Amino acid sequence: MATKRDAILNGIGRAAELHAELGLKAKLGTGDRAINVLGALKFFNIATLFRPLEGLLGAYVPTPRSAGVLITTLRDHHVQRFTAAHELGHHVLEHRTVSLDTKVGFVARGEKEGYDYQEQEADAFAAEFLLPKWLLAAHARRQGWTREHLKRADVVYQLSLRIGASFSSTCWALAGADFLSRSEASALADLPPKASKQRALNDVTPESWRPDVWLLSERDRGAQLLGSPEDYLVFDLEEHDAGGYEWDVEPMPSAGLSIRKDERREASGNPSAFGANVRRHVVAQGQRLAVQRLTLEERRPWETATQALNTFEVDLALLGKEPVGLPRRERMLAA
Ligand SMILES: [Zn+2]
Repeated sequence: MATKRDAILNGIGRAAELHAELGLKAKLGTGDRAINVLGALKFFNIATLFRPLEGLLGAYVPTPRSAGVLITTLRDHHVQRFTAAHELGHHVLEHRTVSLDTKVGFVARGEKEGYDYQEQEADAFAAEFLLPKWLLAAHARRQGWTREHLKRADVVYQLSLRIGASFSSTCWALAGADFLSRSEASALADLPPKASKQRALNDVTPESWRPDVWLLSERDRGAQLLGSPEDYLVFDLEEHDAGGYEWDVEPMPSAGLSIRKDERREASGNPSAFGANVRRHVVAQGQRLAVQRLTLEERRPWETATQALNTFEVDLALLGKEPVGLPRRERMLAA
């Protein structure tokens, strides 16, 4: 007879196979973005619909040729992504029965009795599909985070944003991947992300603590930011001030970002060939749905025709949760 342990191992194994089938390790190995779970549902021709489900996070309904999936619009995009991965799990694990899911995620793993074998299998699949060890490691490598760094709430919070998962899911995934002990993960998961947001914003006070706060540096060059429309982006970029170079922040407003603070800070370290450096510190907040590439250039203001000394670009996907209807990407393609 199958045990909870078998279910978890099977779910993890199937997620790893799917990473290979979809070539995700090769695509995401640089740690520049999160797993595209809606794309995976699309790959299996699973009809996906978002609805304001009461008392239900999601549902999986097998059909003769594939399946249908429903996901609630009443929760944030991190919960929607985990639910989507759970429903995808039912499909790829060949659970050919209807599943009505009132809870999904790492929390469900704690249930000892009375929790269905298939649900545990789908949860294990979802956690491994969205937060595999290789992806956690890829993001840590890009950011220069060591094991010691990953014990800090502020670092784990920034990792959770980049990986498109909730703070607590990220804590548990780090434990599953042996970056943290279970007691370290449990202590971290209890900490409110608000404190990390507060430290990241420093002396800028937001109107609400709901938006996320991204700390962005050179290491995020080329990354995709899967966030919400009102998220804060805190840029911290080296600027060759003594050489007369400065970052042109003019593209921010047209990308839907309003600048809340813009200053230069002393940088530590040796001056480069272009003169003593400072850090350009810009706090910007999103004001609307933004899906576009933001490109910033560091140049001498009087040399607009020449090539920039440095560029910094990020793909903004500040869309927040999926609204009622088909997945946004599919609607955009249909339009
Ligand atoms: Zn389920």
